[in-house]
Amino acid sequence: MADDKELRYDPAVIEQKWQERWAADPKLYAAEPATSNKPKYYVLEMLPYPSGQLHMGHVRNYAIGDALARQMWMRGYNVLHPMGWDAFGLPAENAALKNNTPPREWTLANIAAMKRQMLRLGLGYDWATEVTTCLPEYYRWNQWFFLRMYEKGLVYRKKSKVNWCPECATVLANEQVVDGCCWRHEETQVEQRDLEQWFFRITQYAEELLQGLETLEGWPEKVRTMQRNWIGRSEGTEVDFGLEGGTQKIRVFTTRVDTIFGATSVQLAPEHPLVATFSATDARLRAQVAELLDEQKKAREAGDVGAIEKRGVSTGRYAINPYSGERVPIWVANYILMDYGTGAIMSVPAHDERDFEFATRYGIEIRQVIKPLQDEDGAKLLPFISEDGVLINSGEYDGLTCVQAQDQLQKAAARSAFGEGKVVFRLKDWGVSRQRYWGTPIPMLYCLSNCDGDGLVPVPDDQLPVLLPEKIDITQQGGSPLGRVPSFVNTTCPKCGGPARRETDTMDTFVDSSWYFYRYTDARDSKAPFDPATAQYWFPIDQYIGGVEHAILHLIYSRFWTKVLRDLGMVKNDEPARRLFTQGMVIKDGAKMSKSKGNVVSPDDMVARYGADATRMYALFAAPPDRDLDWQEDGVAGVSRFLARVWRLVTKHAPQARSATQESTALVKGHDFNRADSGPEPAGALAPAGGLSGPSTKLRRKLHQTIAKITQDFEGRWHFNTCVAAIMELVNELQDADAQLTAGEVPAPVVRELLQTLILLLAPFAPFLAAELWEELGGEGSVLRAPWPKSDPGLAREDEIEIPVQINGKLTAVVRVAAGADPKTIETAALADEKVRTRTAGKSIVKVIVVPGRAVNLVVK
Ligand SMILES: [Zn+2]
Ligand SMILES: [Zn+2]
Repeated sequence: MADDKELRYDPAVIEQKWQERWAADPKLYAAEPATSNKPKYYVLEMLPYPSGQLHMGHVRNYAIGDALARQMWMRGYNVLHPMGWDAFGLPAENAALKNNTPPREWTLANIAAMKRQMLRLGLGYDWATEVTTCLPEYYRWNQWFFLRMYEKGLVYRKKSKVNWCPECATVLANEQVVDGCCWRHEETQVEQRDLEQWFFRITQYAEELLQGLETLEGWPEKVRTMQRNWIGRSEGTEVDFGLEGGTQKIRVFTTRVDTIFGATSVQLAPEHPLVATFSATDARLRAQVAELLDEQKKAREAGDVGAIEKRGVSTGRYAINPYSGERVPIWVANYILMDYGTGAIMSVPAHDERDFEFATRYGIEIRQVIKPLQDEDGAKLLPFISEDGVLINSGEYDGLTCVQAQDQLQKAAARSAFGEGKVVFRLKDWGVSRQRYWGTPIPMLYCLSNCDGDGLVPVPDDQLPVLLPEKIDITQQGGSPLGRVPSFVNTTCPKCGGPARRETDTMDTFVDSSWYFYRYTDARDSKAPFDPATAQYWFPIDQYIGGVEHAILHLIYSRFWTKVLRDLGMVKNDEPARRLFTQGMVIKDGAKMSKSKGNVVSPDDMVARYGADATRMYALFAAPPDRDLDWQEDGVAGVSRFLARVWRLVTKHAPQARSATQESTALVKGHDFNRADSGPEPAGALAPAGGLSGPSTKLRRKLHQTIAKITQDFEGRWHFNTCVAAIMELVNELQDADAQLTAGEVPAPVVRELLQTLILLLAPFAPFLAAELWEELGGEGSVLRAPWPKSDPGLAREDEIEIPVQINGKLTAVVRVAAGADPKTIETAALADEKVRTRTAGKSIVKVIVVPGRAVNLVVK
């Protein structure tokens, strides 16, 4: 009676069949238009860089997103689930050099390869909305946004120190420098260079980016904390110290103006303009400053100026404290940076660690001006950093608390116009210039006759896109490769018609990924980056899923971009994503998978050996999605064996399930899964218990418990590992009942309910097998459109439950009572228990506390 099909689960055959069917049905994963009457759900996984090969981290990320998308489809949502390619960037240039393949060709071939892998994995993306950032149809809108931001004063150009990776031969953002080295070249020290750069004025949104974090309750707290620290807001006071014997001022920023009477020196960065003035006529000082600057440069290259050995030199000049009129010496120090704050500080050794260290080294006066509230042994306390104190040695401010003094001193500065309150941020403007080929050309021109004053002329909109020339020689000899393409560089000034040069830098690729998710909503628009009305329907993204390594860069830039879009009137949302989920890493043998460690597991190998369903399901089963997952091939094999059991179970009993007619189905009303509007039924209607035998009741109870658990997990914790485990338990119970199922002790409609629902629960995790078995069971249409099952609490309820009985806090017995029993019944059962009777014999029961359904506590004397 068992034919071959029944015995053998062959994922290769099933998965190929369904991949072909799905490919022939482009509407299957397509979102409905904004006029849809279904509620919308936008689920998004971070788009990959097209390296040519998916890795297991991708598989895990996409398996999570796909499970969610599928479940939301089944719940009747209008789901947008798109995919695209973050296709600009350096590896294409490196590959071009190595293999002599043009970057575009290399990138597009990689995209094709990875798309094949995604289709093979059965990921449900709407490919009609695919976005490829290296194509002119996309990057022209980067240029368009650049021009809009230029018009709003959000783009500017300035000479600045840049991080230069000699290996990349390009500029790196601060965020791309890790411990002084390039983020891509962990062994390569980053150098400092001075270059004219284009910047986005992200600092204009610093306060809003910070405040907005409070509204992002659906984001992991660790990501919000990382962003808060990155933005780095501090409140303080700016104060001008006058230069003795001169008119110049030295502006310092301090968060502790209450300690200013303890300032015993002012210290300048080696590159502070006054230092040049002082050393102009002092060769000795000049040499010493050069040495300090050199030390600072080295520390910057090593990535940690904070760890520098603090050294300085006195200039022999004095500054005047504007509050006290006191003269304090001016020093130059190697740990003060010109591009941080004002490039000058007041040094208060009694109340600052770093200043204390410096003053001790150079014998500078240490003067206490804050006394602790708890009067301890004064001198030994220094440096005393806390703000829990009162002022001393501070003239008219003596006796004020630190906080009071900060307020009053700040007001005094403003009154006398030598200072003001100030909020500073650690966040810097976003440098977007890259001296690379494979990126978006920056749409600016330099008019050779300076017709527009500064010579800067934006490319007019009707000349967009500025196309990236395709056939060019890319060598990484420094400078922009585009600068060596005369047909690109030489052009005509749109203002005066004279000769002009194009900007030859390209944009940071983080520009591409800052707004790609808006493009998905209107991916083929050739008149605009996207349609605002459609974006308003889909945004914010309901669930964004990606790696925690993007917690700062990508996610701050995208938040910034959304605020700019809002201010351009293109979107109404303040934030791009309502909820963010960061999945854990995939590791093997205790380490992150990497080529250098030789522990990479290829998704293709796993799929070839065990099938896409087993590979995906294992990625969800092996660990909670937010934790690291230690890849074990045995585990994949185990999941594969489980799916084979499901296969055998369902194919064996499918004929019985199929034999359930519409009439007999009425026995278990509400479970006609072919009815599109099948919703929850009143519990009573579902339980014609009189007609059903013991095994039916037991199996249905397990089924409805499993539905409840999985539904809850999708809505809450996303512990998909326990969802899979629950499905495994359900299958075990069905297998245990195999004899009864075979003997026909379970009516056909119940078999049908059991097996169809099992398949529905499996569908988000193992879509190929689910599709095949759904068809096998006679389910109508696509399993993806079948309604997600609803748990009936009446059926899920256990008949009897176990209740622990404690005597004086000590567990004594466990009694079984009917589920939902009232307190009196539970008490009676507890007191009747043999062990309880033994323990209470001859004693008096002072109190009985019954927590219905949970516990009984007896207090006995
Ligand atoms: Zn590098
Ligand atoms: Zn001109």
